[in-house]
Formats: sequence, C-alpha cells, structure tokens
Amino acid sequence: MKLYKSQELKIYNSISGKKEIFKSQTEGYVGMYVCGPTVYNKVHLGNCRTFISFDLVFRYLRHLGYKVRYVRNITDVGHLENDAETGEDRIAKKARLEQLEPMEIVQKYTVDFRNILQEFNNIPPSIEPTATGHIVEQIETTKKIIEKGLAYEANGSVYFDVMKYNESEHYGILSGRKLEDMIPNTRELTAQSDKKNPQDFALWKKAEPEHIMRWPSPWGVGFPGWHLECTVMSSKYLGESFDIHGGGMDLKFPHHECEIAQGQAANGVAPVNYWMHANLLTLNGQKMAKSTGNNILPEELFTGENKNLSKAYAPSVARFFMMQANYRSVLDFSDEALQAAEKGFHRLMDAMLLLPNLKAEKNSSFDVEKWKQSCYDAMNDDFNTPVLIAKLFDAVKIINSAKAGSEKLTAEDIKLLAETLKIFSFDILGLKPLDALQSGNENAERLGKVVELLIDLRKRARDNRDFETSDKIRDELAKLDIQLKDGKEGTVYTL
Ligand code: AMP
Ligand code: ZN
Repeated sequence: MKLYKSQELKIYNSISGKKEIFKSQTEGYVGMYVCGPTVYNKVHLGNCRTFISFDLVFRYLRHLGYKVRYVRNITDVGHLENDAETGEDRIAKKARLEQLEPMEIVQKYTVDFRNILQEFNNIPPSIEPTATGHIVEQIETTKKIIEKGLAYEANGSVYFDVMKYNESEHYGILSGRKLEDMIPNTRELTAQSDKKNPQDFALWKKAEPEHIMRWPSPWGVGFPGWHLECTVMSSKYLGESFDIHGGGMDLKFPHHECEIAQGQAANGVAPVNYWMHANLLTLNGQKMAKSTGNNILPEELFTGENKNLSKAYAPSVARFFMMQANYRSVLDFSDEALQAAEKGFHRLMDAMLLLPNLKAEKNSSFDVEKWKQSCYDAMNDDFNTPVLIAKLFDAVKIINSAKAGSEKLTAEDIKLLAETLKIFSFDILGLKPLDALQSGNENAERLGKVVELLIDLRKRARDNRDFETSDKIRDELAKLDIQLKDGKEGTVYTL
C-alpha cells in the first residue's frame, strides 16, 4: 500500500492561511510548479534556500508514494529591473555589461544554477521549461485573455485589465491586498500612460528599438510580461488547474497574484489548489539579495572565503542548518549558527555509524515504531523539519545511551532504527552522508590491513606446518565472504 494512504499530510495553503489536508486532484499523482530563477547572475544562498525547501516537498511527496511531476521554470526573458513594469530586461542588461549575447548569459547562469543545486543534493525537476521556449503559447494565452475582454492593447503593448477582472473575480485573493493599495510608485506612473489603471500589468510589452530580446506578435514586435510565462508553462505541463504552486515569499505579490488572475481569466478556473511560500534567508537581519550585495554565494560557503564566515562548510551542513528552521519562518544566516549546525550534523551521522555495532538485547526499552510514526507526524504537519530533527536527536540520545548500557534495543529495533534514520536523513531531508562515506572508505582500508595481517599469520602457520591454524584462518575468512587465493605471487584476497 502506498504510504500516502496511511499518512495524512497537511499543507499550509497561503491562499486560505490555514493548514489543509492535502488531496491531489488525481489519486497517486501530484503536479507541482515552482518559480525558478531569473538566470542573469549567480544564485546566492537565499535563492538556494527556496529551492531546497521545495526539494524537501518533492522528496517527501515521492517518499509517500506519489508520482510527482515537478515543473520549475527558467526565466530567461521578461523579468525587468526592480520587478517593475518598466526598465531594462535583467538578462539584456547583464548581456550588455558582460558584452555577451543574452543567450550566453542565460546559458552561463543556468549551468551555474544547476551545478549549485546539485551540490546541495537537490533532485532535478521533471521538466525545466524556459520562457523564451514558450513565446508562441504566451501569445496564444494573451489572445485568449483579450477575447474574454479582460485585457486590452495599447500602443503595441497588452495589459491585463485588473478593474474589469475584479468585477467578477477577486484580485488580491492571495496577497490580501486591497486594489487601492496596489498602485505602484509615482516614478513608474509617469511611464505608464498606456495603462487604463495603474494596477494593470503587462501581458505583452512593445519592444523599444534598443530592446534586443524581441519577437513578432499580433501587436507588433515585443516580448512577454514576466508573470505570463508561469501561467503558460504551468498550464501546459500540469493542466489548467493543478495541485501545488510554490515560490519564495517575495513572489506572492505581484507575481503570484497576477498568475491567479491570468489563469482564471484565460481558462475560467482557479489554477492552483495549494499555494506554498518559502520564507526568506536573511544575513545580518536583512534579506539576502543579489541587488544589494547582502548575500553569500554557495562557492564562498564551500571555501570559507567571505567576511561573514570563519571557515568552509560542506553543502550538507548548510542544508542541515536550513532544515533546522521551518520553511515558513525567516531564517538568519550566521557563522555561529552554521558551526552549531555542523556539530549537530556530525552528532547525527556519528550515531548512525554507531548503530550497527550496538549489542542487541532481548528486549527494547524504547518504542521504535512509535518514534518512527512521530517522525512522519512531524513531516505530515506541513513539512515541520525542526520537529523532525528534534525527533532524530531523540533517537541519537537513545543510541548513545544504548552504547553506554542504560538503554536496550533488540536486533530488529536496531535495524528499524537504522533504516528509519537513513530514510529521514538522506531520502527526505536530502543530507549527504559525507562523513559516513568517508569513514566507510577508511574502514575498508583498515579491513584490508587486517586481512593482510591474517594472510601473513597464515603463511607463518603453514611454514611451521601448523595446517590446523592456517586452514582455520582461510575457512573463517571464507565464512565472512573474504576469499583467499594462493598463487605464484603469494596470497591474494577478494572481498
Ligand atoms: P529570482 O532569481 O530573483 O527570481 O529568485 C529566485 C527565487 O529565489 C525566488 O523564488 C525568490 O523568491 C527566491 N529568493 C530570492 N531571495 C531570497 C532570499 N533572500 N531568501 C529566500 N529566497 C529568496
Ligand atoms: Zn513564476
């Protein structure tokens, strides 16, 4: 039986402001869309936190037995400076500054993004579509919204008519903002004379002559508005209405609010059942951001070369640090917190290594099944990783006490404990058993030396015609699946 049938998952839905029981639209399948990066710069740890948060969601849904189609886009056009309706395209600007083609910028930073996420042990999404690869679909959706009377053309651009939409639908349903509070700043207003109302947003923008990223459309040469790509790519790959949509908290408004309006306007259905928002990573209390320079890059973390760091940290330590906070809480990055996380990470890994060597007892003094369910309960409660980690440390305590003789575990319980710790630490939290692997290699080396020693002792026994001892060494090793073979060059072994 699939696990999701017995584990009741609750997800905090940003649109209702409540934790809701998760039910996918099609039994056994989940469609999940997460807004990906704008690939004009190196990702910082803040960006990584958001994608690691959704990697956790992806991993847990898969663990529960769902077949998940996870779509995460690459924004390679249309995202203007300051998230605004005017200004230069971020990619085009970087291309100008680095004297590269826009597509070179896109390629460079897409590769960087994928490499970094791989370092953090993120599982790649099922589909990673790009905005420029879906220009035709964006034009089609714009036409559809115009036909519904919810968008209008003005001077080569097309704008979504927020006021009109709001007559029958609710613009602000996600962010809770009131229409009158959504008027952008006045500096922008002057450049927005084409719009009927300042709240309106662009579906398609006319390209000025200097704008190099441009495509023909029924409204002239232009480029798509930033919000449209996500509506188009999510509906193309997941359907007009799908299960989960995620992104960073800062995307709730206007980006996701606009996505809801576009989807509803084009297709007549609410596009998403569960909206999830991952909270920000801050540095010295301020949002980590590309634009302000208040950030740490992953490569700086891995080398320790940043003024905020005293040393280098492994990706899994940073991941563990992030998992110690709930994805919906703001998390402040600091060297001290990373040091503490590193200690915790090692304590967990050490306990897992100790476990197979514990002496099995006839009875257990610890209810492993109950503990295992409490780990699931933590995850089922809106992916509550800090509670899960506290549970994992309950097990660490028991393991250390069992080693000291003050707790008892049966052989089956030791096995179950080991399996469960592996599932939650590696499969679900996505940590990499760095030290475990390392000591695995060290152990193999030590084992090799011990076998060499036994081979030497066996040779001595044979030289002394003590065949009883030499045969015993060979046979006992064979029982451990270590085969000795005598040849001209001496004795070799296979493990
Ligand atoms: P961008 O490339 O700027 O569109 O950002 C990519 C993703 O990273 C979005 O989902 C943002 O919400 C998210 N993001 C940006 N800054 C931070 C931060 N400081 N902490 C967490 N997530 C962030
Ligand atoms: Zn998006």
